[in-house]
Amino acid sequence: MSNDLEIRELQASIGDKPILKGVNLTVRAGSVHAVMGPNGSGKSTLANIVAGHPSYVVTGGEILYQGQNILELDADERSKLGLFLAFQYPVSVPGVSVANFLRTALNAHRAQEGQDPKKTSIPVAEFRKQLREGMKSLEMDEGFARRYLNEGFSGGEKKRLEILQMTLLKPTMAIMDETDSGLDIDALRIVAEGVNRLAGPNMGALVITHYQRLLTYIKPQFVSVMMEGRIVRDGGPELALELEEKGYDWLREELAGAA
Ligand code: ADP
Ligand code: MG
Repeated sequence: MSNDLEIRELQASIGDKPILKGVNLTVRAGSVHAVMGPNGSGKSTLANIVAGHPSYVVTGGEILYQGQNILELDADERSKLGLFLAFQYPVSVPGVSVANFLRTALNAHRAQEGQDPKKTSIPVAEFRKQLREGMKSLEMDEGFARRYLNEGFSGGEKKRLEILQMTLLKPTMAIMDETDSGLDIDALRIVAEGVNRLAGPNMGALVITHYQRLLTYIKPQFVSVMMEGRIVRDGGPELALELEEKGYDWLREELAGAA
């Protein structure tokens, strides 16, 4: 059973328009892997499919994690396997506090079929302790836990919550899609610090970014480039630097030349 996330020949459409045309990508357990690429290349589509978003039709291929094709699992089951899908949870839930949301998420994780939830739930005192420690490590104000979920949250606060959730759930693989829209420098720094702190032997991360700048804060071991629905190049951190310096056109030309 492998802790690598293996995406094989993944094909997907929106309506009858093919978007992913055979994506091959392996995110090794415990490594930080960035996927970059020009706008419209299919990066968010890939992230959304890993997260189980219903708008996409997968027309071929598989995504393997822990010996299972996760395309056959619902979002809950994916989470229980240890995948963390950062952008998946509801935008705003009136009347639910941050603390309650996190406790519910943690308990859902601990729940086991046929077992009384009372037996598997985290004891309240233990939860409070973990929450307090998690918030302290992220330098968060204690009052944050009492606020209603996402109500009036800044971009930075939403990101902080995401990282806090990761800290508590201890996923083995985190998948994040960082769009550039509205991502202020503060939010960027929070995500980067969180990923840098949590990633390591126990957690790998697939960081999809539209924003080269993110990679000056997060140091990936592996970088892959997506273009027109395919991974067209794999490399190390030097590939990100090269793209930052030269843009994507040289790569496009190289690929056209090789075809
Ligand atoms: P990226 O995240 O790399 O910018 P996306 O995955 O968002 O790329 O988009 C890939 C392609 O899919 C683009 O051509 C885009 O226009 C198209 N696309 C994305 N979402 C939709 C949608 N809801 N309906 C139709 N086409 C879409
Ligand atoms: Mg996108």
